[in-house]
Amino acid sequence: MVLILGGGFAGSNVLREIQNKFNNDAEVTLISQDNFFLFTPMLPEVSSGMLHPSDISTPIRTFCKTANFCHARVLSINLESKTVTVIRIFDQKETTLEYDYMVLAMGSKDNFFGNANIEEFAFTIKTLEDAIAIRNHIISVLECADQERDSILQEQLLRFVVVGGGFAGVEIATEINHFLHDAAKNFYKNIDLKKIQTIIVSARNGILPEVGEDLGNFALDYVKKSGIEVITNTKAVDAGEDHILLSDNTLIPCATMIWAGGVIVDPLVSSLKCEHGASGRVIVDQYLRLKEHPNIFALGDCVHLVDHHTGSVYPTTAQIAIRQAKIVSENLAAKIYGQENAMKIFDYQNKGVMATIGKCTGVALINGRKVFGLQAWLLWRLFYWLNLPTNEKKVKVAFDWLLHAVFRSDIMTVGFIKKKTLTRLETPIYSVLERSQEESFDNTSYL
Ligand SMILES: Cc1cc2nc3c(=O)[nH]c(=O)nc-3n(C[C@H](O)[C@H](O)[C@H](O)COP(=O)(O)OP(=O)(O)OC[C@H]3O[C@@H](n4cnc5c(N)ncnc54)[C@H](O)[C@@H]3O)c2cc1C
Repeated sequence: MVLILGGGFAGSNVLREIQNKFNNDAEVTLISQDNFFLFTPMLPEVSSGMLHPSDISTPIRTFCKTANFCHARVLSINLESKTVTVIRIFDQKETTLEYDYMVLAMGSKDNFFGNANIEEFAFTIKTLEDAIAIRNHIISVLECADQERDSILQEQLLRFVVVGGGFAGVEIATEINHFLHDAAKNFYKNIDLKKIQTIIVSARNGILPEVGEDLGNFALDYVKKSGIEVITNTKAVDAGEDHILLSDNTLIPCATMIWAGGVIVDPLVSSLKCEHGASGRVIVDQYLRLKEHPNIFALGDCVHLVDHHTGSVYPTTAQIAIRQAKIVSENLAAKIYGQENAMKIFDYQNKGVMATIGKCTGVALINGRKVFGLQAWLLWRLFYWLNLPTNEKKVKVAFDWLLHAVFRSDIMTVGFIKKKTLTRLETPIYSVLERSQEESFDNTSYL
Protein backbone atom coordinates (compact mmCIF):
# COMPACT_ATOMS: atom_id res chain seq x y z
CA MET A 1 0.00 0.00 0.00
CA VAL A 2 1.38 3.40 -1.05
CA LEU A 3 -0.03 6.53 0.59
CA ILE A 4 0.62 9.91 -1.01
CA LEU A 5 -0.07 12.76 1.40
CA GLY A 6 -0.92 15.98 -0.44
CA GLY A 7 -2.31 16.73 -3.90
CA GLY A 8 -0.30 19.80 -4.89
CA PHE A 9 2.47 20.01 -7.48
CA ALA A 10 4.48 17.36 -5.64
CA GLY A 11 1.78 14.81 -4.74
CA SER A 12 -0.28 15.07 -7.95
CA ASN A 13 2.78 14.68 -10.14
CA VAL A 14 3.97 11.62 -8.22
CA LEU A 15 0.48 10.17 -8.64
CA ARG A 16 0.46 10.82 -12.38
CA GLU A 17 3.95 9.39 -12.91
CA ILE A 18 3.71 6.39 -10.61
CA GLN A 19 0.57 4.87 -12.13
CA ASN A 20 2.43 4.33 -15.41
CA LYS A 21 5.16 2.42 -13.59
CA PHE A 22 3.04 -0.16 -11.73
CA ASN A 23 1.12 -3.00 -13.29
CA ASN A 24 -1.49 -2.96 -10.52
CA ASP A 25 1.23 -4.38 -8.24
CA ALA A 26 0.64 -1.81 -5.56
CA GLU A 27 -2.44 -0.06 -4.29
CA VAL A 28 -1.94 3.71 -4.38
CA THR A 29 -4.09 6.21 -2.45
CA LEU A 30 -3.67 9.97 -2.52
CA ILE A 31 -4.99 11.89 0.50
CA SER A 32 -5.70 15.59 0.23
CA GLN A 33 -7.86 18.09 2.05
CA ASP A 34 -8.64 19.71 -1.31
CA ASN A 35 -10.23 17.51 -3.95
CA PHE A 36 -8.43 19.44 -6.66
CA PHE A 37 -4.92 20.28 -7.77
CA LEU A 38 -4.31 24.04 -7.68
CA PHE A 39 -2.06 25.72 -10.23
CA THR A 40 -0.69 28.37 -7.84
CA PRO A 41 1.46 30.42 -10.27
CA MET A 42 -1.81 31.72 -11.77
CA LEU A 43 -3.56 32.24 -8.42
CA PRO A 44 -3.09 36.06 -8.36
CA GLU A 45 -4.94 36.18 -11.70
CA VAL A 46 -8.02 34.74 -9.97
CA SER A 47 -7.94 37.64 -7.50
CA SER A 48 -7.85 40.13 -10.35
CA GLY A 49 -10.62 38.32 -12.22
CA MET A 50 -8.38 37.62 -15.22
CA LEU A 51 -9.00 33.88 -14.70
CA HIS A 52 -11.83 31.87 -13.17
CA PRO A 53 -11.20 29.56 -10.19
CA SER A 54 -12.02 26.52 -12.32
CA ASP A 55 -9.38 27.51 -14.92
CA ILE A 56 -6.56 26.77 -12.51
CA SER A 57 -7.97 23.89 -10.47
CA THR A 58 -8.24 20.30 -11.68
CA PRO A 59 -10.04 17.51 -9.79
CA ILE A 60 -7.45 15.06 -8.47
CA ARG A 61 -9.68 12.19 -9.62
CA THR A 62 -8.89 13.29 -13.19
CA PHE A 63 -5.39 11.93 -12.57
CA CYS A 64 -6.55 8.68 -10.88
CA LYS A 65 -6.32 5.91 -13.49
CA THR A 66 -5.94 3.05 -11.03
CA ALA A 67 -5.26 4.94 -7.81
CA ASN A 68 -7.76 5.87 -5.08
CA PHE A 69 -8.46 9.34 -3.83
CA CYS A 70 -9.30 10.12 -0.21
CA HIS A 71 -10.77 13.57 0.43
CA ALA A 72 -9.60 14.05 4.00
CA ARG A 73 -7.27 16.04 6.21
CA VAL A 74 -4.27 14.26 7.67
CA LEU A 75 -4.45 14.45 11.46
CA SER A 76 -1.41 12.45 12.48
CA ILE A 77 1.38 10.31 11.09
CA ASN A 78 2.80 7.43 13.12
CA LEU A 79 6.16 6.40 11.71
CA GLU A 80 6.51 3.46 14.13
CA SER A 81 3.19 1.76 13.39
CA LYS A 82 3.26 2.94 9.74
CA THR A 83 -0.20 4.47 9.97
CA VAL A 84 -1.79 7.76 9.02
CA THR A 85 -4.93 9.02 10.74
CA VAL A 86 -7.21 11.18 8.63
CA ILE A 87 -10.47 13.03 9.16
CA ARG A 88 -12.95 13.03 6.29
CA ILE A 89 -13.77 16.53 5.07
CA PHE A 90 -17.50 15.94 4.59
CA ASP A 91 -18.56 14.37 7.87
CA GLN A 92 -15.47 14.69 10.10
CA LYS A 93 -15.19 10.92 10.53
CA GLU A 94 -11.73 9.69 11.58
CA THR A 95 -10.06 6.71 9.92
CA THR A 96 -6.60 5.18 10.26
CA LEU A 97 -4.85 3.95 7.13
CA GLU A 98 -1.84 1.65 6.99
CA TYR A 99 1.02 2.04 4.56
CA ASP A 100 4.07 0.16 3.36
CA TYR A 101 5.44 3.19 1.53
CA MET A 102 4.58 6.82 2.06
CA VAL A 103 5.12 9.93 -0.06
CA LEU A 104 5.12 13.09 2.04
CA ALA A 105 4.03 16.04 -0.12
CA MET A 106 2.05 18.31 2.19
CA GLY A 107 3.59 21.59 1.01
CA SER A 108 3.75 24.59 3.29
CA LYS A 109 1.49 27.10 4.94
CA ASP A 110 1.69 30.81 5.70
CA ASN A 111 4.13 31.81 8.40
CA PHE A 112 2.91 34.74 10.51
CA PHE A 113 5.95 34.51 12.79
CA GLY A 114 3.64 34.16 15.81
CA ASN A 115 1.85 37.46 15.18
CA ALA A 116 -1.78 36.72 16.04
CA ASN A 117 -3.09 40.12 14.90
CA ILE A 118 -1.56 39.81 11.46
CA GLU A 119 -2.94 36.29 11.20
CA GLU A 120 -6.40 37.54 12.15
CA PHE A 121 -6.61 40.68 10.03
CA ALA A 122 -4.53 39.93 6.94
CA PHE A 123 -5.65 38.17 3.80
CA THR A 124 -3.33 35.48 2.48
CA ILE A 125 -2.69 34.22 -1.04
CA LYS A 126 -2.09 30.49 -0.80
CA THR A 127 -5.38 28.77 -1.58
CA LEU A 128 -8.24 29.20 -4.03
CA GLU A 129 -10.44 30.45 -1.18
CA ASP A 130 -7.81 33.10 -0.41
CA ALA A 131 -7.81 34.34 -4.00
CA ILE A 132 -11.62 34.51 -4.12
CA ALA A 133 -11.77 36.22 -0.71
CA ILE A 134 -9.30 38.89 -1.87
CA ARG A 135 -11.31 39.46 -5.04
CA ASN A 136 -14.62 39.84 -3.16
CA HIS A 137 -12.98 42.11 -0.61
CA ILE A 138 -11.31 44.52 -3.02
CA ILE A 139 -14.49 44.87 -5.10
CA SER A 140 -16.50 45.53 -1.92
CA VAL A 141 -13.92 48.14 -0.95
CA LEU A 142 -14.36 49.87 -4.34
CA GLU A 143 -18.14 49.81 -3.88
CA CYS A 144 -17.77 51.37 -0.45
CA ALA A 145 -15.17 53.95 -1.54
CA ASP A 146 -17.42 55.05 -4.40
CA GLN A 147 -20.13 55.98 -1.88
CA GLU A 148 -17.82 57.43 0.78
CA ARG A 149 -17.94 61.24 0.99
CA ASP A 150 -15.29 61.63 3.72
CA SER A 151 -12.11 61.98 1.68
CA ILE A 152 -9.76 60.78 4.46
CA LEU A 153 -11.83 57.64 4.92
CA GLN A 154 -12.03 57.15 1.18
CA GLU A 155 -8.21 57.34 0.93
CA GLN A 156 -7.91 54.77 3.70
CA LEU A 157 -10.30 52.47 1.87
CA LEU A 158 -8.29 52.86 -1.31
CA ARG A 159 -4.96 51.93 0.30
CA PHE A 160 -3.95 48.31 -0.33
CA VAL A 161 -0.91 46.95 1.49
CA VAL A 162 0.89 43.75 0.46
CA VAL A 163 3.55 42.43 2.83
CA GLY A 164 6.28 40.41 1.12
CA GLY A 165 8.56 41.25 -1.79
CA GLY A 166 8.93 37.71 -3.14
CA PHE A 167 7.12 36.14 -6.11
CA ALA A 168 3.72 35.80 -4.44
CA GLY A 169 3.78 39.32 -2.92
CA VAL A 170 4.90 41.12 -6.07
CA GLU A 171 2.56 39.17 -8.36
CA ILE A 172 -0.54 39.75 -6.22
CA ALA A 173 0.33 43.44 -5.72
CA THR A 174 0.81 44.12 -9.43
CA GLU A 175 -2.29 42.11 -10.40
CA ILE A 176 -4.64 43.88 -7.98
CA ASN A 177 -3.11 47.30 -8.70
CA HIS A 178 -3.87 46.89 -12.38
CA PHE A 179 -7.38 45.55 -11.67
CA LEU A 180 -8.22 48.38 -9.23
CA HIS A 181 -7.25 51.10 -11.71
CA ASP A 182 -9.02 49.39 -14.57
CA ALA A 183 -12.21 48.77 -12.60
CA ALA A 184 -12.29 52.27 -11.07
CA LYS A 185 -11.75 53.88 -14.50
CA ASN A 186 -14.57 51.87 -16.08
CA PHE A 187 -17.18 51.65 -13.34
CA TYR A 188 -16.61 53.85 -10.28
CA LYS A 189 -17.04 57.46 -11.29
CA ASN A 190 -16.71 58.83 -7.73
CA ILE A 191 -13.23 57.37 -7.29
CA ASP A 192 -10.27 59.52 -8.26
CA LEU A 193 -7.69 57.10 -9.75
CA LYS A 194 -4.86 59.05 -8.10
CA LYS A 195 -6.24 58.08 -4.71
CA ILE A 196 -5.72 54.35 -5.29
CA GLN A 197 -2.53 53.41 -3.52
CA THR A 198 -0.93 49.97 -3.58
CA ILE A 199 2.04 49.48 -1.27
CA ILE A 200 4.52 46.60 -1.10
CA VAL A 201 6.38 46.19 2.19
CA SER A 202 9.58 44.20 1.78
CA ALA A 203 11.87 43.12 4.61
CA ARG A 204 14.79 43.08 2.17
CA ASN A 205 16.73 45.75 0.32
CA GLY A 206 14.61 45.29 -2.81
CA ILE A 207 12.09 42.90 -4.31
CA LEU A 208 12.26 39.51 -6.03
CA PRO A 209 15.58 38.35 -4.55
CA GLU A 210 15.04 35.08 -6.51
CA VAL A 211 15.91 36.77 -9.86
CA GLY A 212 19.19 38.36 -8.78
CA GLU A 213 20.26 41.98 -8.30
CA ASP A 214 20.00 43.37 -11.88
CA LEU A 215 16.57 41.96 -12.64
CA GLY A 216 15.42 42.72 -9.11
CA ASN A 217 16.39 46.39 -9.63
CA PHE A 218 14.63 46.45 -13.00
CA ALA A 219 11.51 44.99 -11.36
CA LEU A 220 11.71 47.53 -8.53
CA ASP A 221 11.97 50.48 -10.95
CA TYR A 222 9.15 49.18 -13.14
CA VAL A 223 6.84 48.46 -10.21
CA LYS A 224 7.44 51.96 -8.80
CA LYS A 225 6.81 53.55 -12.22
CA SER A 226 3.52 51.71 -12.46
CA GLY A 227 2.42 53.60 -9.35
CA ILE A 228 3.10 51.05 -6.62
CA GLU A 229 4.94 52.32 -3.57
CA VAL A 230 7.66 49.98 -2.32
CA ILE A 231 8.87 50.23 1.28
CA THR A 232 12.12 48.26 1.69
CA ASN A 233 14.15 47.05 4.68
CA THR A 234 10.99 47.17 6.77
CA LYS A 235 8.78 44.54 8.39
CA ALA A 236 5.12 44.52 9.32
CA VAL A 237 4.97 44.06 13.08
CA ASP A 238 1.29 44.47 13.94
CA ALA A 239 -2.11 44.96 12.35
CA GLY A 240 -5.73 45.73 13.12
CA GLU A 241 -8.81 45.76 10.93
CA ASP A 242 -8.08 49.35 9.85
CA HIS A 243 -4.28 49.67 10.00
CA ILE A 244 -0.90 48.05 9.76
CA LEU A 245 2.13 48.93 11.89
CA LEU A 246 5.65 48.73 10.45
CA SER A 247 8.95 48.05 12.22
CA ASP A 248 9.98 51.73 11.85
CA ASN A 249 6.81 52.67 13.79
CA THR A 250 4.96 53.92 10.70
CA LEU A 251 1.24 53.29 11.03
CA ILE A 252 -0.53 52.84 7.71
CA PRO A 253 -4.31 53.33 7.81
CA CYS A 254 -5.84 50.91 5.31
CA ALA A 255 -8.71 48.49 4.81
CA THR A 256 -6.74 45.78 3.03
CA MET A 257 -3.61 43.95 4.02
CA ILE A 258 -2.37 40.89 2.15
CA TRP A 259 0.27 38.76 3.80
CA ALA A 260 2.83 37.03 1.60
CA GLY A 261 5.61 37.27 4.15
CA GLY A 262 6.85 33.69 4.28
CA VAL A 263 5.96 30.04 4.61
CA ILE A 264 6.49 27.30 7.15
CA VAL A 265 5.63 23.59 7.15
CA ASP A 266 2.61 22.21 8.98
CA PRO A 267 3.36 21.26 12.64
CA LEU A 268 2.37 17.74 11.62
CA VAL A 269 5.46 17.61 9.42
CA SER A 270 7.80 19.63 11.64
CA SER A 271 7.00 17.35 14.61
CA LEU A 272 7.78 14.09 12.78
CA LYS A 273 10.49 12.06 14.48
CA CYS A 274 13.19 12.62 11.85
CA GLU A 275 15.84 15.20 10.96
CA HIS A 276 14.58 18.72 10.19
CA GLY A 277 16.07 21.77 8.50
CA ALA A 278 15.01 25.42 8.46
CA SER A 279 11.28 26.11 9.08
CA GLY A 280 10.79 22.48 10.16
CA ARG A 281 11.21 21.03 6.66
CA VAL A 282 12.20 17.36 6.65
CA ILE A 283 15.76 16.54 5.60
CA VAL A 284 15.95 13.99 2.79
CA ASP A 285 18.86 12.14 1.23
CA GLN A 286 19.79 12.50 -2.44
CA TYR A 287 17.18 9.85 -3.34
CA LEU A 288 14.54 12.04 -1.67
CA ARG A 289 13.98 9.58 1.20
CA LEU A 290 13.84 10.34 4.90
CA LYS A 291 17.24 9.25 6.17
CA GLU A 292 15.82 7.31 9.12
CA HIS A 293 12.88 5.82 7.19
CA PRO A 294 13.87 4.55 3.74
CA ASN A 295 10.25 3.58 2.97
CA ILE A 296 9.21 7.25 3.14
CA PHE A 297 9.89 9.64 0.28
CA ALA A 298 9.37 13.38 0.67
CA LEU A 299 9.38 16.25 -1.82
CA GLY A 300 8.17 19.73 -2.63
CA ASP A 301 7.83 22.64 -0.22
CA CYS A 302 8.03 20.43 2.89
CA VAL A 303 11.55 19.22 2.07
CA HIS A 304 14.99 20.54 3.00
CA LEU A 305 17.65 19.53 0.46
CA VAL A 306 20.87 21.31 -0.40
CA ASP A 307 21.54 22.00 -4.08
CA HIS A 308 25.22 21.07 -4.39
CA HIS A 309 25.50 23.26 -7.53
CA THR A 310 24.81 26.42 -5.51
CA GLY A 311 25.44 25.29 -1.92
CA SER A 312 22.05 26.63 -0.84
CA VAL A 313 18.78 24.86 -0.10
CA TYR A 314 16.50 24.23 -3.09
CA PRO A 315 13.85 26.97 -3.21
CA THR A 316 10.17 26.24 -2.59
CA THR A 317 8.93 26.38 -6.17
CA ALA A 318 6.55 24.43 -8.35
CA GLN A 319 9.37 23.74 -10.83
CA ILE A 320 11.43 21.95 -8.18
CA ALA A 321 8.40 19.97 -6.95
CA ILE A 322 7.66 18.75 -10.51
CA ARG A 323 11.30 17.61 -11.06
CA GLN A 324 11.39 15.89 -7.69
CA ALA A 325 8.13 14.06 -8.48
CA LYS A 326 9.80 12.34 -11.46
CA ILE A 327 12.66 11.08 -9.29
CA VAL A 328 10.40 10.02 -6.40
CA SER A 329 8.13 7.97 -8.67
CA GLU A 330 11.10 6.25 -10.33
CA ASN A 331 12.74 5.52 -6.99
CA LEU A 332 9.51 4.32 -5.43
CA ALA A 333 8.92 1.91 -8.31
CA ALA A 334 12.54 0.70 -8.09
CA LYS A 335 12.12 0.09 -4.36
CA ILE A 336 8.83 -1.77 -4.72
CA TYR A 337 10.28 -4.00 -7.47
CA GLY A 338 13.39 -4.70 -5.36
CA GLN A 339 15.75 -2.82 -7.69
CA GLU A 340 17.20 -0.36 -5.18
CA ASN A 341 20.43 0.01 -7.12
CA ALA A 342 18.39 1.45 -10.01
CA MET A 343 17.34 4.40 -7.83
CA LYS A 344 18.29 7.85 -9.14
CA ILE A 345 19.66 10.83 -7.26
CA PHE A 346 18.01 14.24 -7.46
CA ASP A 347 20.61 16.42 -9.17
CA TYR A 348 18.72 19.29 -10.70
CA GLN A 349 20.31 22.55 -11.72
CA ASN A 350 17.77 25.34 -11.68
CA LYS A 351 17.61 26.64 -15.26
CA GLY A 352 15.59 29.74 -14.71
CA VAL A 353 13.17 31.89 -12.76
CA MET A 354 10.42 34.15 -14.05
CA ALA A 355 7.90 36.56 -12.60
CA THR A 356 5.24 38.88 -13.94
CA ILE A 357 5.47 42.43 -12.60
CA GLY A 358 2.56 44.22 -14.26
CA LYS A 359 0.62 44.58 -17.48
CA CYS A 360 2.56 42.79 -20.26
CA THR A 361 5.81 43.04 -18.28
CA GLY A 362 7.94 40.45 -16.58
CA VAL A 363 11.46 39.55 -15.56
CA ALA A 364 13.21 36.25 -16.23
CA LEU A 365 16.61 34.71 -15.64
CA ILE A 366 17.04 31.78 -18.00
CA ASN A 367 20.31 29.85 -18.13
CA GLY A 368 22.01 32.95 -16.76
CA ARG A 369 20.44 35.17 -19.48
CA LYS A 370 18.47 38.14 -18.25
CA VAL A 371 15.20 38.93 -20.01
CA PHE A 372 13.06 42.00 -19.25
CA GLY A 373 9.72 43.47 -20.22
CA LEU A 374 7.26 42.07 -22.76
CA GLN A 375 9.55 39.21 -23.84
CA ALA A 376 9.83 37.94 -20.24
CA TRP A 377 6.09 38.30 -19.72
CA LEU A 378 5.38 36.26 -22.89
CA LEU A 379 7.89 33.63 -21.78
CA TRP A 380 6.19 33.44 -18.37
CA ARG A 381 2.77 33.00 -19.94
CA LEU A 382 3.97 30.40 -22.45
CA PHE A 383 5.93 28.40 -19.87
CA TYR A 384 3.15 28.23 -17.30
CA TRP A 385 0.43 27.75 -19.92
CA LEU A 386 2.32 24.71 -21.25
CA ASN A 387 2.57 23.39 -17.69
CA LEU A 388 -1.19 23.46 -17.07
CA PRO A 389 -2.17 19.86 -16.32
CA THR A 390 -4.84 19.19 -18.97
CA ASN A 391 -5.74 20.37 -22.47
CA GLU A 392 -9.13 21.48 -21.15
CA LYS A 393 -7.43 23.90 -18.73
CA LYS A 394 -5.10 25.14 -21.46
CA VAL A 395 -8.08 26.02 -23.67
CA LYS A 396 -9.96 27.67 -20.77
CA VAL A 397 -7.00 29.79 -19.70
CA ALA A 398 -6.15 30.86 -23.27
CA PHE A 399 -9.79 31.75 -23.86
CA ASP A 400 -10.06 33.80 -20.67
CA TRP A 401 -6.81 35.65 -21.42
CA LEU A 402 -8.22 36.48 -24.84
CA LEU A 403 -11.57 37.63 -23.45
CA HIS A 404 -9.79 39.78 -20.91
CA ALA A 405 -7.75 41.47 -23.62
CA VAL A 406 -10.96 42.43 -25.45
CA PHE A 407 -13.53 43.16 -22.73
CA ARG A 408 -13.60 45.25 -19.54
CA SER A 409 -12.86 43.75 -16.11
CA ASP A 410 -15.70 41.94 -14.39
CA ILE A 411 -16.60 43.50 -11.01
CA MET A 412 -19.15 41.03 -9.71
CA THR A 413 -18.74 39.78 -6.15
CA VAL A 414 -20.16 36.48 -5.01
CA GLY A 415 -20.73 37.89 -1.51
CA PHE A 416 -20.46 35.66 1.49
CA ILE A 417 -20.47 31.96 0.86
CA LYS A 418 -22.69 30.08 3.27
CA LYS A 419 -21.16 27.09 4.92
CA LYS A 420 -23.44 24.20 5.78
CA THR A 421 -22.55 22.15 8.80
CA LEU A 422 -23.38 18.50 9.09
CA THR A 423 -23.57 16.31 12.14
CA ARG A 424 -21.48 13.17 11.89
CA LEU A 425 -23.01 10.38 9.88
CA GLU A 426 -22.61 7.55 12.37
CA THR A 427 -25.34 5.25 11.11
CA PRO A 428 -25.76 4.19 7.50
CA ILE A 429 -28.95 5.64 6.07
CA TYR A 430 -30.54 2.24 5.30
CA SER A 431 -30.50 1.21 8.96
CA VAL A 432 -32.36 4.38 9.88
CA LEU A 433 -34.94 3.45 7.25
CA GLU A 434 -35.17 -0.09 8.61
CA ARG A 435 -35.58 1.24 12.12
CA SER A 436 -38.30 3.65 11.10
CA GLN A 437 -40.09 0.79 9.34
CA GLU A 438 -39.88 -1.29 12.53
CA GLU A 439 -41.17 1.70 14.51
CA SER A 440 -44.07 2.17 12.11
CA PHE A 441 -44.97 -1.52 12.54
CA ASP A 442 -45.03 -0.96 16.29
CA ASN A 443 -47.18 2.09 15.78
CA THR A 444 -49.65 0.30 13.55
CA SER A 445 -50.24 -2.26 16.27
CA TYR A 446 -51.85 0.53 18.28
CA LEU A 447 -54.21 1.50 15.51
C1 LIG B 1 0.53 32.91 -5.03
C2 LIG B 1 1.64 31.96 -5.35
C3 LIG B 1 2.34 32.09 -6.53
C4 LIG B 1 3.35 31.18 -6.84
N1 LIG B 1 4.02 31.34 -8.01
C5 LIG B 1 4.95 30.44 -8.37
C6 LIG B 1 5.61 30.53 -9.62
O1 LIG B 1 5.34 31.43 -10.41
N2 LIG B 1 6.53 29.56 -9.94
C7 LIG B 1 6.84 28.54 -9.08
O2 LIG B 1 7.65 27.68 -9.45
N3 LIG B 1 6.26 28.44 -7.88
C8 LIG B 1 5.32 29.35 -7.49
N4 LIG B 1 4.72 29.26 -6.28
C9 LIG B 1 5.19 28.22 -5.32
C10 LIG B 1 4.50 26.88 -5.59
O3 LIG B 1 3.11 27.02 -5.52
C11 LIG B 1 4.93 25.85 -4.56
O4 LIG B 1 6.32 25.76 -4.51
C12 LIG B 1 4.35 24.48 -4.92
O5 LIG B 1 2.94 24.54 -4.86
C13 LIG B 1 4.86 23.39 -3.97
O6 LIG B 1 4.20 22.19 -4.25
P1 LIG B 1 3.82 21.18 -3.05
O7 LIG B 1 3.07 20.06 -3.68
O8 LIG B 1 5.01 20.89 -2.25
O9 LIG B 1 2.84 22.00 -2.12
P2 LIG B 1 1.37 22.48 -2.43
O10 LIG B 1 1.19 22.77 -3.86
O11 LIG B 1 1.09 23.58 -1.43
O12 LIG B 1 0.46 21.22 -2.09
C14 LIG B 1 0.27 20.76 -0.78
C15 LIG B 1 -0.90 19.78 -0.82
O13 LIG B 1 -1.03 19.17 0.44
C16 LIG B 1 -2.36 19.26 0.88
N5 LIG B 1 -2.34 19.29 2.34
C17 LIG B 1 -1.64 20.11 3.16
N6 LIG B 1 -1.85 19.80 4.43
C18 LIG B 1 -2.71 18.75 4.44
C19 LIG B 1 -3.33 17.97 5.45
N7 LIG B 1 -3.11 18.17 6.77
N8 LIG B 1 -4.16 16.97 5.09
C20 LIG B 1 -4.42 16.71 3.78
N9 LIG B 1 -3.86 17.41 2.77
C21 LIG B 1 -3.01 18.42 3.11
C22 LIG B 1 -2.90 20.54 0.26
O14 LIG B 1 -4.31 20.54 0.20
C23 LIG B 1 -2.25 20.45 -1.11
O15 LIG B 1 -3.00 19.62 -1.94
C24 LIG B 1 3.69 30.14 -5.93
C25 LIG B 1 2.97 29.99 -4.75
C26 LIG B 1 1.95 30.89 -4.44
C27 LIG B 1 1.18 30.72 -3.17
